[in-house]
Amino acid sequence: SFLTIQEGCDKFCHFCVVPYTRGPEYSRSFDQIMEEAKQLIDNGTKEIILLGQNVNAYNFEGLHLSKLILEIEKLPGVERIRYTTSHPKDMTDDLIDVYKSSKKLMPLVHLPVQSGSNKVLDLMNRKHTIKTYLEIFNKLKKINPNIKFSSDFIIAYPGEDENDFEDTIKLIDEIKFINSFSFIFSPRPGTVASDLHEIDKKISRERLEIVQQKLFNNQIKMNKSLEDKTINVLVENRTDDRSKLFGRSEYMTSVLFSGKDELIGKIV
Ligand code: SF4
Repeated sequence: SFLTIQEGCDKFCHFCVVPYTRGPEYSRSFDQIMEEAKQLIDNGTKEIILLGQNVNAYNFEGLHLSKLILEIEKLPGVERIRYTTSHPKDMTDDLIDVYKSSKKLMPLVHLPVQSGSNKVLDLMNRKHTIKTYLEIFNKLKKINPNIKFSSDFIIAYPGEDENDFEDTIKLIDEIKFINSFSFIFSPRPGTVASDLHEIDKKISRERLEIVQQKLFNNQIKMNKSLEDKTINVLVENRTDDRSKLFGRSEYMTSVLFSGKDELIGKIV
């Protein structure tokens, strides 16, 4: 089940409409969220995905996302906790430390980087650098080497040259992102970036193809590494043709297998 804890954004990335359409950052009441989490679990929820446009900026009267995760995981019955979408700037040490103590927080960190080039990040007004991103990655890997990262990438952002693109490729090679999303830059009316000179469509498409191939290869490698392994799967449903059960691993990898309906809603 998804549980919205936060809305809006104050960051004003130059490509994004959220601050204009959803307004400033707003965090919902801690107690109300806890109450809703209890209700969801009472109704059978095993996995809670905490949602927000800037979910890790959550701050209700000084209570942060780290506290919320640690409180929710005390509720009997909840098995898995995730949160999305987060911003590198709000990846604070208290949240990183939750990965040390939490038993329920899943080891897949979805942390959009958008580009591997500091120049492009600056043009995007992203307010983080590759150095800070790598610091977060290294801190989390030190806590748990099995943690994996997924990300969002905007390819061919206005001003991205070959070197910038190479930096993105280098970052993908270094972090080995799995389960990531990548798109060619597309201007949104009313944003700063909508007035910028777009990169040639053919070059944009070529760059996207290269990135997607890399990300796909990472995914395949990850999936291959699971062959002949026993992993935990939260069973969600049957496939459309009803022939198999469908579930997800801790890393959101889809798993199909034969089994009885009683397994739906269980971790097997
Ligand atoms: Fe905010 Fe994310 Fe949009 Fe940037 S991309 S303005 S952080 S919602």
